[in-house]
Amino acid sequence: MLRHLARKLRASGPVTVAEYMREALTNPAQGYYTRRGGVGESGDFITSPEISQVFGELIGIWYISEWMAMGKPSSFQLVELGPGRGTLTEDILRVFKQLTSVLSKCDVSVHLVEVSPKLSEIQAQMLTGGKVQPNPEDKSAYMEGISKTGIPIFWYRDIQDVPPGYGFYLAHEFFDALPIHKFQRTEKGWREVLVDIDPEAPDQLRFVLSPSSTPATENFIQVRETRDHVEVCPEAGVIIQRLACRIEEDGGAALVADYGHDGTKTDTFRGFRNHKLHDVLSAPGTADLTADVDFSYLRKMAQERTTTLGPIKQREFLKNMGIDLRLQVLLQNSRDTATREQLLHSYDMLMNPEKMGDCFNFFALMPHRRLVHPDKKDKPESKSALPPVAGFNELLLK
Ligand code: SAH
Repeated sequence: MLRHLARKLRASGPVTVAEYMREALTNPAQGYYTRRGGVGESGDFITSPEISQVFGELIGIWYISEWMAMGKPSSFQLVELGPGRGTLTEDILRVFKQLTSVLSKCDVSVHLVEVSPKLSEIQAQMLTGGKVQPNPEDKSAYMEGISKTGIPIFWYRDIQDVPPGYGFYLAHEFFDALPIHKFQRTEKGWREVLVDIDPEAPDQLRFVLSPSSTPATENFIQVRETRDHVEVCPEAGVIIQRLACRIEEDGGAALVADYGHDGTKTDTFRGFRNHKLHDVLSAPGTADLTADVDFSYLRKMAQERTTTLGPIKQREFLKNMGIDLRLQVLLQNSRDTATREQLLHSYDMLMNPEKMGDCFNFFALMPHRRLVHPDKKDKPESKSALPPVAGFNELLLK
């Protein structure tokens, strides 16, 4: 990967951090996700669904609760962006199976958006036991199969390939993997941070500043920006707008969970390898590269078409979803000390403010009509009968 990048940089000059990140993560031959995709304990970073089954179960309950609040539509598509090892979907489908009596008249299908051939294989194994078939090029899904619980599953490379329909969308630790542009304020104005070959050490990369402003500095920096360093992820803006369009047109909701901030942080671009921080410019393709999600940017991009909720902290969301009660039930049902200790340890990982409880956030998109009663505009004093959204409020299943 370094050789490939060095050749490119020598031939056509420095590239943006976004181009560098895209190559390092998703280059079809050498990208980190394409080849390694190291999610999980034995990989480079661990995610909440890999820590505890309770995480995915509560998210499954969130979708059921929204499906009920929206009047139990006769079908829905569960669409996950960047499903990793498939664990989160597996936990959600287990909840759907347990609630078969509630969902019995609903036609459910699963749609996974995954660029990594290696991870899609792992997902297929996890979710279907390997019972999948590759599709011919002219089909929008590149692979399909049936889940162990009997639900059809389809795989795509791009959200645009997913057919339209009432959709529940999920993006957990997906937006943080999308390429960011980095900018720095200088005495001469805003400059974009670029990646170049180090002239002193030709097999090493270094950051440089663009000599003048670039189309990106013109387009992505707000006039009233007060920070000196800014990261912007235009691809996240495009994807969240696509989700907002789909939800506005066909109904549904999206749940985005990730580490992030509300437009306040400055320098969050970092790498992980073997669960340790890794220099972002060294050995590209061998480490996960990531940046905090700017939820204020996502909100700005989606709010015309949909209502947005959050971001709220993971520990608040999970508490509202009833994690404490779920933990009690699991503890009561487990006899051996090792399992109980494991349950308490994973609860602490997810909820402790110093671990994942505070830095991870939940953010949702839903149709405006889900929160503002159509009559409300004419009769603002009338009490709306719309149920509160679970997770962002306490869970009420009616
Ligand atoms: N949601 C999972 C995995 C997170 S890792 C979990 O929480 O465990 C990021 C995931 O996004 C991986 O599956 C990776 O292959 C996928 N991914 C990264 N960039 C992508 C892109 N541009 N399009 C689709 N999937 C992408």
